[in-house]
Amino acid sequence: MLCLGIETSCDDTGVALVDGRRLLANRAASQADLHAVFGGVVPEIASREHYRLLAPLYQACLTDAGVSPSDVDVVAVARGPGLLGSLLTGVSFAKGLALGTGARLVGVDHLHAHVLAAALETEISYPAVAVLISGGHTNLYIMRSELELELVGRTLDDAAGEAFDKAAKALNLPYPGGAVMDRLAAYGQVDTAMFPRPYLDNQNLDFSFSGLKTAFALHIAAREGLATERLVEATELQSEEGARRVLGESFQEIADICASYGWSIADTLRIKTSRALERMGERPQAIILAGGVASNTTVRRLLKEEANARGLAFIAPSPMLCTDNAAMVAYAGSRLAEAGLCHDLTLEAVPRGRKVPRDYVACA
Ligand code: ATP
Ligand code: FE
Repeated sequence: MLCLGIETSCDDTGVALVDGRRLLANRAASQADLHAVFGGVVPEIASREHYRLLAPLYQACLTDAGVSPSDVDVVAVARGPGLLGSLLTGVSFAKGLALGTGARLVGVDHLHAHVLAAALETEISYPAVAVLISGGHTNLYIMRSELELELVGRTLDDAAGEAFDKAAKALNLPYPGGAVMDRLAAYGQVDTAMFPRPYLDNQNLDFSFSGLKTAFALHIAAREGLATERLVEATELQSEEGARRVLGESFQEIADICASYGWSIADTLRIKTSRALERMGERPQAIILAGGVASNTTVRRLLKEEANARGLAFIAPSPMLCTDNAAMVAYAGSRLAEAGLCHDLTLEAVPRGRKVPRDYVACA
């Protein structure tokens, strides 16, 4: 089944083609540079860029895979949650393609697509606990199959990615700061007492990172002159030498802070994941990571150790499939269509904050 995936939920435009687990084409255009000067995504700019980029990326995918529009069986599109204007460009494009070519249409929950990203690369045994850690979400799921997800924990305030990005901003490091802090952490030593591991003193599986953000801000405020005077550019931090030059005398302290802060987030994720595993009625088979923060070195290491200690498989997507991409949408869409779950042209985009309904109709 040839399935086209479209991803426009935030500021990455993506189009991909999959046939089962075979990734035939995967085109992406990041808008990060356009938004970096504003320190965050500007929704209006994002929508206009998606609109400009979708058709050429679609054409490029067809060429890469050597197929024609009528060969595509299913058009899958991330329908939410995300920025409404951005989602609408993708959903409208997908509807036009489905109408014009006769392909089936499937609206995919963007978070479900994230969680299935690793399944595109590996066979996964279920049940499993999936940890979705992205820019907008920190969710724990119990998965009984690729299509059966039960949300058992979520963040009550900031997402893990947001916690990294806001901390990086306080240090005048470039946006999005998660990857930059990860890189700097490699030169630092973890001090496990530097920052709290937030919201563990309870029995639930939820997260709360806003207190950690405050602890970070207070720590930085007490160390006057630590952050650089100006906003550092990502290219300046690509090598250790560059980072030493830009951060000067603060280099080691900032590296230690990044290492310790990353550890606090990672260990918090590990502890709540282990609680979710313990609460499963049946024996789990795997821990699955997903979302942009799943690229984080410390998060990967601690959750892999947790999986190993329990004799479970540790599944994490390649970094390319962690952040927003259309391959995961195409894969999720093909699995839904195979199960007979599709949409018609009344498919609606669902903005961030609203639950994505399971309003599928039987595939035509
Ligand atoms: P959502 O899917 O919840 O709407 P999103 O798609 O915008 O959010 P992703 O693209 O999955 O989020 O992830 C982006 C986040 O991942 C950013 O906050 C970024 O800082 C973070 N991130 C990326 N790489 C790393 C890393 N190596 N370490 C920590 N955080 C990282
Ligand atoms: Fe995402």
